[in-house]
Amino acid sequence: MTETFAEPAATTFDGRDGRLDRFGRALRDLRISVTDRCNFRCPYCMPKEVFGRDYAFLPRDEILRFEEIRRLAAIFVSLGVRKLRVTGGEPLVRHDLPELVAMLAPLRTSDDEPVDIALTTNGSALRRLARPLAEAGLRRITVSLDSLDDETFRRMNGVNFPVERVLDGIAAAREAGLAPVKINVVLRRGLNESSILSLAAWARDEGHILRFIEYMDVGTTNGWRLDDVVPAAEVVATIDAAWPTEPIEAGYRGEVARRWRYRDGRGEIGGIASVTQPFCGDCTRSRLSAEGQLYTCLFSASGHDLRGPLRGGASDAELRALIEGIWFARADRYSELRAAATERLPKIEMFALGG
Ligand code: SAM
Ligand code: SF4
Ligand code: SF4
Repeated sequence: MTETFAEPAATTFDGRDGRLDRFGRALRDLRISVTDRCNFRCPYCMPKEVFGRDYAFLPRDEILRFEEIRRLAAIFVSLGVRKLRVTGGEPLVRHDLPELVAMLAPLRTSDDEPVDIALTTNGSALRRLARPLAEAGLRRITVSLDSLDDETFRRMNGVNFPVERVLDGIAAAREAGLAPVKINVVLRRGLNESSILSLAAWARDEGHILRFIEYMDVGTTNGWRLDDVVPAAEVVATIDAAWPTEPIEAGYRGEVARRWRYRDGRGEIGGIASVTQPFCGDCTRSRLSAEGQLYTCLFSASGHDLRGPLRGGASDAELRALIEGIWFARADRYSELRAAATERLPKIEMFALGG
């Protein structure tokens, strides 16, 4: 650590204290991957041709134990993190996940508010786990669901998993008090864009919040092409033509989803336009991988090892200084650079919609 990091942690980012990075962005979110494994093989994430039987997933002893995750999470919270999102791979394939949620739930932010704990899942095991997770202190849940059409859904999850079981898992989440459930939809041109209106109609009826995520060029295996991206603005325009919408102001600085409410009062939708409308300037997210690497951007080529120092006997103060230094040096803005380099980006009239 150099003495540069010793300067006071004042922030003008969102009016709260916390270390700022090179572009003045505060550290507010930590996404915790609890496993690199998944029971699905969505082609845009873990194509089965690559993640087949022979794929070498992490051995158990290389994955952070719950107590290690809790310790690191507490340090992140002391540095200004307000929101923890448990994710993966598929987080529900990790044994005893409610135990981890129960360990994270008592954490409080530096201004003594409860930390916001959420989970992103493919929903396949929610019928069994929704209630234990809610009882452990989970407040919010996001379920990924790319189509209501069984055939399309089976194709998009790569393992022929029936949509009915995910719908039942979503119902279980609601019964467990985790409503409103957020539904993440990744659209791929020509694959599931025909599902937009049926998903919107269903979510309006059921009271779920839909979030359309633009298909991104994460990793190196999904064969991403810009032509496959369905711009969030196009999705909102399609829905707006059926049920008029109006934009909602961002709830807080750093909120990545742009939101619209239905003018008839029946809920809202969101668009995460990471490709066509990058939001790096407000990106407050950090990511902890299952083996304890800290990534400061979804597109980082490499992470920073926290497990080594953690298992090597580092004190909380040492780990805190390490993380603070990594955040302080952060200069990631991959999506903005991609947008600048990609001349064929579609023109967006996002703010004109429903206005
Ligand atoms: N397995 C869980 C799930 O699917 O919800 C959690 C992990 S998954 C990696 C988290 C989210 O990333 C999901 O909503 C998924 O749809 C989204 N995702 C995965 N690959 C993506 C890609 N190439 N572009 C956009 N979103 C993607
Ligand atoms: Fe698994 Fe989620 Fe990736 Fe699909 S998106 S393969 S469910 S981790
Ligand atoms: Fe944040 Fe990186 Fe995504 Fe930009 S590209 S919004 S810096 S995660």
